[in-house]
Amino acid sequence: MLVDSHCHLKDSRYGKSPLEVAEDSKREGVALFINIATSLEDSHDSSKICSEIPYVYGTVGIYPHSDVGGENSVLISGLEKIIDANPKIVGVGECGIDIPEGQLQRSVEDQKKLFEEQIELSIKKKLPLIIHNRNADALVLEVLSHYKSSGLKAVAHCFSSDWLTAQKFLNLGIYLSFSGMITYPSRADLREVVAKVPDDMFLLETDSPWLPPQGHRGELNYPKYVRIVAEKVSQVKEKPYLTVASLSTTNACRLFNINL
Ligand SMILES: [Zn+2]
Repeated sequence: MLVDSHCHLKDSRYGKSPLEVAEDSKREGVALFINIATSLEDSHDSSKICSEIPYVYGTVGIYPHSDVGGENSVLISGLEKIIDANPKIVGVGECGIDIPEGQLQRSVEDQKKLFEEQIELSIKKKLPLIIHNRNADALVLEVLSHYKSSGLKAVAHCFSSDWLTAQKFLNLGIYLSFSGMITYPSRADLREVVAKVPDDMFLLETDSPWLPPQGHRGELNYPKYVRIVAEKVSQVKEKPYLTVASLSTTNACRLFNINL
């Protein structure tokens, strides 16, 4: 049994409903899905999806480049209303800092403010934070370090840095979530993190429809491919597949406070 701790079930490129996407992956052994929101509108959709599908839970959150121009106070109170109305909302995010190669849609300073407000919402509502981080290890760690004794629970989604950086997240009590990236031949550095991460501090995810694993690159990603991520973790950690499945499921349920 597996949990996909980070997927986006609603995407027009699938040409299928979130229920169809989820059912297909459920048949392949994914027992639980965390549907991750990236904007205020997507947070409403996330709430609707997890209300409709028993084995799907959801988050609310604003991605660093979503809802640009929106007032932070309006966005945050919108997220809070959705949390209050739906007990199947189990997290805040994905949120964080994103520094792309090209042009920024929201300045780094504004991204930082929006990130901090979502961290505070996560603490207030006692829900874990789903951290997005592209090219911003130092800034993300600096922001998070201010909340060290706040009771913040969090996961670094699609962890893609080295072991030195991984240890800094782990020292803050933050879980690491591994995606299909760990299967890419060029990412030996990530496999070192997989090998060394403590058994009780890692999650598995797909980030579907993004980031397909090796063997499916150039295609859409699906939650069912979380099995490929689990198989790679099993191989790298030299532990039986069923042990990895069980550890990652237990960790996800502990973080998201879900009783299976
Ligand atoms: Zn995502």
